[in-house]
Amino acid sequence: MSEIADRLEQVKAAIKEAVRRANRSSEDIKLVAVTKGHDADKVRLALDAGQLIFGESKMQEARAKIPLLPSNLEWHFIGHLQKNKVRHALSLFGLIHSVDSLELAEQIHRVAREDGLYPRVLLEVNVAGEGTKFGFSPETLSASMEKLLVLDRLSIEGLMTIPPIAEEAESSRRYFISLRQLREKLEADFKLKLPELSMGMTDDFGIAVEEGATFVRVGTAIFGPRRQAKIERP
Ligand SMILES: *Cc1c(COP(=O)(O)O)cnc(C)c1O
Repeated sequence: MSEIADRLEQVKAAIKEAVRRANRSSEDIKLVAVTKGHDADKVRLALDAGQLIFGESKMQEARAKIPLLPSNLEWHFIGHLQKNKVRHALSLFGLIHSVDSLELAEQIHRVAREDGLYPRVLLEVNVAGEGTKFGFSPETLSASMEKLLVLDRLSIEGLMTIPPIAEEAESSRRYFISLRQLREKLEADFKLKLPELSMGMTDDFGIAVEEGATFVRVGTAIFGPRRQAKIERP
């Protein structure tokens, strides 16, 4: 068994434990293996171990890597998407976790209409209000919701967040709770369903599962340390 297969099993076991603690069902949690900073060879090892959903956060890297891999993989985009890269993103990715502004949503809608697509997206929320992060503030998202719902090419399936970097994994819990509560408020206020919550990374995915995550995005715990910088910042 490869080291990556081994680590993948450990992550899945940790997810199962969190599922048990929270009295949830395993089928409700999907693991996105984050491959940024890692070569296609490593992705293949994870694929051989049964992993099918992968996440990338940089378009340039994704465009080089994805064509090297079998076409049955499901790729998710999790980074900041520039408006001039939307067409490429829609051709490569089955789900965009990181729609972080109304302008970006409108651009995705425009391109999707031109290209005859109905992309699945999540809305990224900067729940802690960090100046260094992309994403809607909870207030801006509520205020933008009517306009977002007019974009009928978009299948808005839920919310995503990246909590502030912290020493303690437990520090993330309140932000995960905030995202879940925001989801409940939006569902009630706008009479819609936002079933997906994308939250939790290597250090805190167990806590995210306890608090309702349906997607966890895990890189380092599966693939080890990366070549380059972690999260892109504005
Ligand atoms: C890199 C990245 C991850 C994975 O981070 P790890 O700490 O390596 O698990 C998750 N989400 C986003 C948005 C990322 O950029």
